[in-house]
Order: sequence, then C-alpha cells, then structure tokens
Amino acid sequence: GFDLSQFEVGDMIGDGTFGEVYVASHKRSKSVKVALKCMVKSQEDRYLDVDGHSTPVLAEVAMMLRLMNAPRCPNIIRLHDWVELENNFVLILEYAESCQTLHQYIRDTVDIEENQARRLMRQLIRAVMFCAERGVFHGDIHTANILVTQPRLELKLIDFGCAQPITHKPFNRSDYRGAGNCMPPEALRCRVFHANPAYVWTLGITLYEIMHGRLAFNNRQSIMFGSIQIHPRLSTACVDLISQCLIRNPVKRLQLHQVEEHCWFNPTTPNPV
Ligand code: ADP
Ligand code: MG
Ligand code: MG
Repeated sequence: GFDLSQFEVGDMIGDGTFGEVYVASHKRSKSVKVALKCMVKSQEDRYLDVDGHSTPVLAEVAMMLRLMNAPRCPNIIRLHDWVELENNFVLILEYAESCQTLHQYIRDTVDIEENQARRLMRQLIRAVMFCAERGVFHGDIHTANILVTQPRLELKLIDFGCAQPITHKPFNRSDYRGAGNCMPPEALRCRVFHANPAYVWTLGITLYEIMHGRLAFNNRQSIMFGSIQIHPRLSTACVDLISQCLIRNPVKRLQLHQVEEHCWFNPTTPNPV
C-alpha cells in the first residue's frame, strides 16, 4: 500500500469537474513526486462502499487498473494506488513533471510543425491502441486530458473518469459522457457506436486541433453536417489523414490499426495523389 502520510501536499495543479489535483512530494526524498486527484464521493460510491475495499468502487480506478499490468504503456499516466477517505477518493498518480495540457501547449505554440504533431500523434496512437487492446474505451479523449512534457514532448493520456469496458456490444449514445464536441457522428445519428471507430474519430479531431489551434467542430449540427476548413499550409498527407479519420460513416473511416500505418507517419513514402 501507499502511505499518504509520507507525502507533503503542495500546489493545486488542476481544477477539474469532479475534484482537484495536487502535486505532493515525499517528505524525506523531495525529488519523489506524485499527483493526487481528490474526488468527492457520490452517494452511489458510498453505497458501493458496503462491499468493502477489495474491489475498486470507482469505475475510473477499475478502468485504470486494466492498464497497469506489465507491460505498461509509457503514454498512459500511471496509477500508483488509491486511498479511500470518509468523504473522498484520492487517486495517487504518476506526476508528469514540467508538463502542460495539450490544450495549453496548442494555445501557446503558434503554427505547430508537422514533425512535432507527428511526434505527439504517434504517442497518442500508442496510448489509444493500448487501451483498445486491454478492453478500455477512454471515452473523453480531448486536449485537456492529454499532458505534454517539456522539452521532450512526451505525451501522457490522463483522466479515465468517463472510461468504459469494451464488450462485444456497441455503446449507446447515453454511454458517452465525454466532451460533446468530440463525440463521433454515429453516436448522434445511429445512437450506437463502437469503440475503435470512435477512437479514430477522436484521433482526427485531435490532429485537426494540433494543426489549426481550434476544434474541427463546435456543435452537434457541424459534427453531423459541417465541412471542415483545412489550413493550406498542411501537407497533402496530413490533410489525407485528418480527412480519413473524420469520415462520418464509421465503416468507411480509417481503421484504428491503419492510422499508424498512414503515409503521414512515414514521410519517405510518396504522398497520396
Ligand atoms: P477531471 O476528471 O476533473 O477532468 P483530470 O484527471 O482531467 O480531472 O485532471 C484535471 C487537470 O489536472 C488536468 O487537466 C491537468 O492539468 C492536471 N493533472 C491531472 N493529472 C495530472 C498528473 N498526473 N500530472 C500533472 N498534472 C495533472
Ligand atoms: Mg479531465
Ligand atoms: Mg474526468
């Protein structure tokens, strides 16, 4: 187990919807740091508490645990442990040192170069494919739930608060609790969706935002019917990748395993015409 009393709580580093995130340093070896995500327990969690401590009562913990068995993915934030207090759950997470959210990074960096975007996207794809292999649908991939460290641009996927187990059945629209502007169109149109095409959609949404500094779609209407405005500075391959990830029909969309094989990731192969 993890002894919280050996840690000194420092600055608040995140103020999310369900609680606050603090950095904490080990009292004796100051260089050892963790991030503490503190969440207020809901009535439901209190009720589930009756089951005891052997199984995680938080879906967020349960989903993260699926990803923590070796071999782990370096692009998914590590869950060291969790602690249950009377009114709170505290997730003890790997602290991403000198990081920004991808959202902040995009805002602070003018015209991100494709080489940098490629570096980020490779890592995000690695994280997403790892989740898919372990049967986890993250459900809330957007730039505020992605951390980027400086100066090496290492990417860490965080916030499994909307994550769900992948089963043979499709998800319903009501299962989607993530950011509305990142919802795949099939969830809106058909009311059901599958994890992998939804992942590919969010990869397209993320790459678009990295290259343009703004979201591809701002509302449900434009997700379903709007056309995307592509900046002319983008390479043909980059435009092709974005467009193929954002094909509205999930059957025609690029498949998850095809994304990292796309020629944009391998600049020596010729561009599509
Ligand atoms: P919520 O579920 O409330 O959205 P998040 O898990 O997304 O909470 O965390 C909120 C914010 O806290 C993030 O956007 C990020 O800025 C910061 N944060 C979260 N986890 C870490 C971490 N492990 N290291 C550094 N910063 C973090
Ligand atoms: Mg979040
Ligand atoms: Mg959350």
